[in-house]
Amino acid sequence: MAKIQMKTPLVEIDGDEMTRMIWKMVKEELLEPFIDLKTEYFDLGLEYRENTKDQVTVDAANAIKRLGVGVKCATITPNADRVKEYNLTEMWKSPNGTIRAILDGTVFRKPILVDGFTSFVPTWKEPITIARHAYGDLYKGVEFKVEGPCEAELVIKKPDGTTETQTIHKFKGAGVVQGIHNTNESISSFAKACFQFALDQKQDLLFSAKDTISKKYDHTFKDLFNEIFDAEFKTAFEEGGIQYTYTLIDDAVARIMRSEGGLIWACKNYDGDVMSDMVAAAFGSLAMMTSVLVSPTGEFEYEAAHGTVTRHYYQYLKGVQTSTNPIATLFAWTGGLKKRGELDEIPELVHFAEQLEVASIETLKKGIMTKDLIPLSSNPDKQEVTTAGLIAAIRGTLESML
Ligand code: NAP
Ligand code: MG
Repeated sequence: MAKIQMKTPLVEIDGDEMTRMIWKMVKEELLEPFIDLKTEYFDLGLEYRENTKDQVTVDAANAIKRLGVGVKCATITPNADRVKEYNLTEMWKSPNGTIRAILDGTVFRKPILVDGFTSFVPTWKEPITIARHAYGDLYKGVEFKVEGPCEAELVIKKPDGTTETQTIHKFKGAGVVQGIHNTNESISSFAKACFQFALDQKQDLLFSAKDTISKKYDHTFKDLFNEIFDAEFKTAFEEGGIQYTYTLIDDAVARIMRSEGGLIWACKNYDGDVMSDMVAAAFGSLAMMTSVLVSPTGEFEYEAAHGTVTRHYYQYLKGVQTSTNPIATLFAWTGGLKKRGELDEIPELVHFAEQLEVASIETLKKGIMTKDLIPLSSNPDKQEVTTAGLIAAIRGTLESML
């Protein structure tokens, strides 16, 4: 069979530890035999980030801006232990944070569903995608613990020297105070990325906040979403037969619980942090969760939602064959290839990526799976295999399909 040809290269962002090993296996076993893979390669393995003083991360993000689609392997975000372990000259920042800042993107997380792996919420038949605003609020908050009687004020200082002040609270005893913020620019980018992604996925979009209580802060989120929707997306949504709904966060939670899934739920930063863990837990496993970063101008970066699986990597280094789940990493690749195929109008590439996803799901359905999935599967013939074993089985299924 002739290999599928590509036009524009995919931005390939390699990473660390166990996921770096999986990355290589997926390419060699499931992609390169079938596709004349064209990529622009960036090594975000921690050693090379150190060698380039993290310039490689910036270059990778700029390549996605230029080429439109990237696929990223999980990477180590250094902490004090990693600085020692890798002899780093600096505690380099989270690559995901750097890339997100350059692309001004929003992260959408979506579970991969397989029959025979039942959701803990029986009504959920289709995946629920969580879009989390990744800037501000609690995560950039400043806080005080007050020890005794005092008056806490919120003060705005303007460039002309004037000020505006509100009393937060007159404390009679000890307590706590917090100041949080967001910017219209960031909220607008978030809104655009959500509308863009809903159109791309052809799914309804729900956005929730608490504007009844927070009449300025949360209300601004609601207003900006509505303004941007009316001005830029309303017609496209009508044409695509999809809907945008704003609702209070409490109502959203009730609606989601009763829904069959199959929608995108846009959440403020804290809500998204909490709700994405709830959705991941309900659908089973982080290893079955994909994640895509979408910029407001329509660039896409696909990745797995989990980390570099350090514990398994140390076993692997000792020569132990691990049973680490490669599905989320594989689906990052298929997501990127499908998008590249769509943009470059290469139907064979889109079709191949879809077939590879089907082959993966069929293989799991047959009961061949990694260790993490065993407790989640209701298949009486389930069988635990190694990472290499699962990849080989997927290849077998794929070849029988092609
Ligand atoms: P992790 O790599 O996601 O792993 C945590 C645990 O979850 C693993 O020990 C394993 O449980 C289970 N797990 C995760 N992915 C799995 C898979 N594919 N197959 C089977 N089990 C899986 O998180 P972490 O240990 O907190 O972080 C490790 C490194 O990853 C850190 O250096 C962190 O900075 C980095 N990280 C990167 C990203 C990213 O690049 N997107 C995201 C998160 C973390 P058991 O040990 O019980 O088998
Ligand atoms: Mg969380």
